[in-house]
Order: sequence, then C-alpha cells, then structure tokens
Amino acid sequence: MSNEVEKASKAKYEKNTETIFDKIIAKKIPADIIYEDEQCLAFNDVNPQAPVHFLVIPKHRIPMLDEAKDSDSEILGHLMLVASKLGKQKLPKGYRLVINNGKDGCQSVYHLHLHVLGGRQMKWPPG
Ligand code: ADP
Repeated sequence: MSNEVEKASKAKYEKNTETIFDKIIAKKIPADIIYEDEQCLAFNDVNPQAPVHFLVIPKHRIPMLDEAKDSDSEILGHLMLVASKLGKQKLPKGYRLVINNGKDGCQSVYHLHLHVLGGRQMKWPPG
C-alpha cells in the first residue's frame, strides 16, 4: 500500500475538528505560501508528487467536496480561478488539478484543497 493510501485509510473525518491547514491559515505553523487573498491561500505541498506541487485552499473550512453547499459555489469557482492563474504563471506547458474526496479518493486532510501538479508529463490513468 502506498504511503498516501495508508495515510488516507487511517485519516479520520471529524466534521468540526480543525486540521493542520487551519493552523497554516492562522499562521500558527509555517508553510511556503505562494498566494493569499481574503478567501483563499496557496502553498507548496510539503511532500511534492511532481516538480511543482502546490495546494489551493479556502480559508473558510469545507471538510471535503461532498460537504460543499450551494452557498459555496462562489468560493469553489474562486479556488479554480486562483489555481489557473498560478498554474499559468508557474506551469505554462500545462498542469493537473486534483481534488481527493473521502477514503477511496485518498483524502487525508479534511479541509478541501485543490492539488496543482506539473513540471513533468502527467500520465493517465492516475493511480
Ligand atoms: P493525500 O495525503 O493522499 O495526498 P490529500 O488529498 O488530503 O491526501 O492531501 C493532503 C496533502 O497535504 C498532501 O499532499 C500532503 O503532502 C499535504 N500536506 C500535509 N501537511 C502539510 C503541510 N504542513 N504543509 C504543506 N502540505 C502539507
């Protein structure tokens, strides 16, 4: 079992529990932040799976995509547009966006995040 799959299978989803990403948003722990605005934050992934791998997260915690509500439409769109702006700057040849949702989706941190990966030729299908 890969490290990520193992981590995801052990990760507990507790709806109202803060995650490490809340601590990053609150600047209680350091992160390599590459973009910030009122609604979202982007930072480099601590365990990159490609030469460039960063995460875009909402400041308001949505635990997972399945928990997003109609009222989250605007922030979901905003996250995609921020990912695209940063992706275009850093990865002009292309990139991949990933959202892991739940255990089978390999989610281990229950604070919705977009993975942006690039800097190499991506393969399909993903593992
Ligand atoms: P997975 O761990 O299977 O990729 P997720 O989709 O939930 O599951 O991704 C969480 C991501 O958060 C991982 O890529 C992990 O490396 C990253 N991460 C965890 N802690 C930190 C941190 N302190 N700073 C930056 N990235 C982090």
